[in-house]
Amino acid sequence: MAPEFVQSLLLFASDHPIYAVVITVLSLFVLRSLLKKLLKQKITNFPRKFPEDRDKRSKEGFYDVAVVGAGPAGSTLGYYLAKAGRNCLLLEKKKFPRDKYCGDAVCKTAIEILMDMGIYEKLIKENKARVADAGGLCSPGGLSYIGRSKEILGEVPAALACKRWWLDEAIAMAAKRAGAYLKENSGVRDAVFDAKAGLWTVYLEDSDKSYKARVLVCADGAPSKLATKLGIVKRPPDGSCSRAYVESGTHKFKADGCIFYHRDMLPGYSALFRHPNNELNYCVYLIPGNPKVTNDDLPYWHDFLMKQDPNISKSLGPGAKLERMKAASLRLGGEPVSHGDHVLVVGDAAGMIDPMTGEGIHHAMEAGKMAAVFLDEAMHHGNYDKDVLKLYHEAWMDKFGSDFKWSFAICQLLYRFPILLDAATAAIARKGDKFLAAWADIMTGRVPKIHLLRPEFVIVITFELVSLIIKRALGIEKKREKKLE
Ligand SMILES: Cc1cc2nc3c(=O)[nH]c(=O)nc-3n(C[C@H](O)[C@H](O)[C@H](O)COP(=O)(O)OP(=O)(O)OC[C@H]3O[C@@H](n4cnc5c(N)ncnc54)[C@H](O)[C@@H]3O)c2cc1C
Repeated sequence: MAPEFVQSLLLFASDHPIYAVVITVLSLFVLRSLLKKLLKQKITNFPRKFPEDRDKRSKEGFYDVAVVGAGPAGSTLGYYLAKAGRNCLLLEKKKFPRDKYCGDAVCKTAIEILMDMGIYEKLIKENKARVADAGGLCSPGGLSYIGRSKEILGEVPAALACKRWWLDEAIAMAAKRAGAYLKENSGVRDAVFDAKAGLWTVYLEDSDKSYKARVLVCADGAPSKLATKLGIVKRPPDGSCSRAYVESGTHKFKADGCIFYHRDMLPGYSALFRHPNNELNYCVYLIPGNPKVTNDDLPYWHDFLMKQDPNISKSLGPGAKLERMKAASLRLGGEPVSHGDHVLVVGDAAGMIDPMTGEGIHHAMEAGKMAAVFLDEAMHHGNYDKDVLKLYHEAWMDKFGSDFKWSFAICQLLYRFPILLDAATAAIARKGDKFLAAWADIMTGRVPKIHLLRPEFVIVITFELVSLIIKRALGIEKKREKKLE
């Protein structure tokens, strides 16, 4: 029976080699994910080393967790850990409110967490945040679409514009109210682990002060200085991004937000985003993957696009008053390791920025929340070994991190074939706001990038691609561009 089955399989494979390859690849994928699920470890599979940690009130002289950095990642973690009744120290080198160079676009996943924390309504009511309704994109070939999202998405908007001055303060103060011990003006200089006692000693800059904690969390942003010093993160940040606020009343931008792709800067892009007071945020994201663009070129592109790109210069208008360019680095695509003995790395420090968008507030907050839930469970069990904390690394990789590989691959495709972005924009223009919302969900990592291979995307984008190729060959594309505008 078995040899007969194998024989007929071999016969099928020789008759239909393409089908055979596709079926084999798909079966391997399914087998791999089944095996992964079957072999998945649980915290309870590991021995108990610190059973006393189970009692949430028994600790003397040390914190359960010391978090370094109170940005969106660290403060979200602090909030949920404190809510779970854990003793969490939140060390921040600056004093809130403080500026952080950013595009200030807060995506849906982050908005849901802000709602859960009870901060969202307050930010809107106090006019510190604004729901982005009219938004869209402008492709490298000049096709554009601006749609509306409010009616389609209902309660949770697609994006929120909120200056980090307000956002980060709101999250940090929520963590403090929940019971986290927030210490501002407390830059961390070093952290040393005593393996025998299972405790970290965290040393502050310019001070003799130190704190002890069972677990250390590095949430100190893209430079990831502490995790690099501890040997967990091993590479420098790879991308960069600029920001300049545009004074209210000096520009001509009508939408709430728009992404502009320039053929020579792909896979990077630039964006305009409107704040509550009609001030704009102008950003340029340099994403690795284009050999002709390096991070040193950021000032050039920042200046060139706002003056020479027809769509951006038109949106800004001749009288736009912009602040001086500010810039910071982006650590993209996820670090291969974000854990060690009694230590986790969260947010930008672990490279949780999607290479397709350069955005990471939502991933920082999502991972902060995941890390808090995970650490609470680890504390209940009393084991923080590297192998246990690897489960946290695997969890965020499963949730959104492994998708970053697709993002890098798509970035390469877009860099090589910008026409794909033109076709996608044409498809969005043809299908309208629902399609734009689905596209935004993929771009912001709510839905895996593999969904781009679904028929509803493939069919309409391929149709537009073929039609663009024909129009370009016949030289009749210009008319279509005008219509779409
Ligand atoms: C110009 C630019 C534009 C961007 N635009 C967007 C956007 O529009 N939308 C989006 O979602 N993402 C955007 N990003 C990415 C986004 O800023 C990050 O993903 C997000 O800030 C990550 O949060 P985090 O908490 O991990 O790190 P951070 O926000 O960097 O917070 C780290 C915190 O650690 C503190 N810290 C650092 N070192 C120490 C130390 N030694 N001791 C104590 N504290 C320390 C810092 O002061 C800071 O408060 C942009 C990034 C840049 C650079």
